Amino acid sequence: MSDLLTRRTRLLGPNVPTFYDTPVHIVKGEGVWLWDADGRKYLDCYNNVPHVGHCHPKVVDAIARQATTLNTHTRYLHEGILDYAERLTAKFSHDLSQMIMVCTGSEANDIALRIAQAVTGKTGFIATDNTYHGNTTAVSQLSTRRPPIGGYPDHIRLVPAPDTVRPVGGTHDGQADAFAENVAHAIRELEVAGHGFAGLMLCPTFANEGFPALSPGFLDPTVKVIRQAGGLILCDEVQPGFGRIGTHWWGHEWLGFAPDVVTLGKPMANGHPCAALITRPDLMKTFRDAFGYFNTFGGNPVSCAAALATLDVVEEEDLITKARNVGEYALERLHSISHPLKAEARGLGLFFGLEFVNDDGTPATDFTARVVEAMRENDVLLNRIGRHMNTLKMRPPMPFSKDNADLAMDILDHVLATTPYD
Ligand code: PMP
Repeated sequence: MSDLLTRRTRLLGPNVPTFYDTPVHIVKGEGVWLWDADGRKYLDCYNNVPHVGHCHPKVVDAIARQATTLNTHTRYLHEGILDYAERLTAKFSHDLSQMIMVCTGSEANDIALRIAQAVTGKTGFIATDNTYHGNTTAVSQLSTRRPPIGGYPDHIRLVPAPDTVRPVGGTHDGQADAFAENVAHAIRELEVAGHGFAGLMLCPTFANEGFPALSPGFLDPTVKVIRQAGGLILCDEVQPGFGRIGTHWWGHEWLGFAPDVVTLGKPMANGHPCAALITRPDLMKTFRDAFGYFNTFGGNPVSCAAALATLDVVEEEDLITKARNVGEYALERLHSISHPLKAEARGLGLFFGLEFVNDDGTPATDFTARVVEAMRENDVLLNRIGRHMNTLKMRPPMPFSKDNADLAMDILDHVLATTPYD
């Protein structure tokens, strides 16, 4: 273990992120289970990338078969990308019918920004003040984890992220309007500054913000403001997409709005690096006219085979219904937990967790960190999220069962009963 950490620093440099005080050295995965180098078995309550389960045989087989036949870039004709585009775009409404395939969510979001620029002729963007949309230079300007070198760029405005425990505007009922008012204010600022308003990028479940408990319709007032201002809605579905939320394929369907651009990533090909952007033909044409876009690896035959097999498994194993049922069950168990620092249990489908707040109302960040470590000591992998990192985040592979949920919740009960909180 310490050998690996030393090599990592020597070869990859300092500050390469790892999870846990003692990082886990995983060597094998299957379904919802992971094994470390010592043969210890962990229940995976965290990973959304192996969407249909670690090393699902159908996806592995599709990758292997295509890799032994052909892999090349997308300037040759190939059915794979077209078959996949047909299947994927059929899952969208609102004339979202054309696709660009890339390798990472960051790239997809980068293109989304460019589409908004090309369509509006403007350069100003809005995002929430506690988010992550990726790591290209342009997209990382929408993220706020570290102050950018040279200061915050003037063409980006960040509005307060919705929050369940501390709602924007002070009340739950007023939060949707308060959020929209902040967006309207940011648009006015961008216009006065001469950038104009190109678009708002957001995750429809505000997953990285701490997945606040919102209701369908939350975004309606904001959508009105954006439409009036002529900007685009860039919907980052990297987290909620592909049925994780249990009721719908996409977060925007659940929230109830029509995005102009949707971006997809992480779960799309069950671990094979694959991401995409979906938009309307009119917007795609404007983008294609404005930028000569090509991506060497995006949409290669192996990626398409992996993505298609992943889509097949979601349907064949009815994983969305399962996510709904198991998610509801897990959430019931979270609701039934009583703990002095518990502020809220919340979740949608297979994305759920608990927020902890200290007696004096401050976020219980240290306690939450201790719970994450103790869960790992008890062979359950999960993590934490939110502005103050005081919310447990559970987001397991989609085949997660009620038995798995029971095991995770039994261990959580034990950890909460044995972890000191003052
Ligand atoms: N958008 C969201 C909401 C994400 O959570 C992430 C990654 N965590 C990204 C975009 C970036 O995806 P990638 O790491 O594939 O570039």
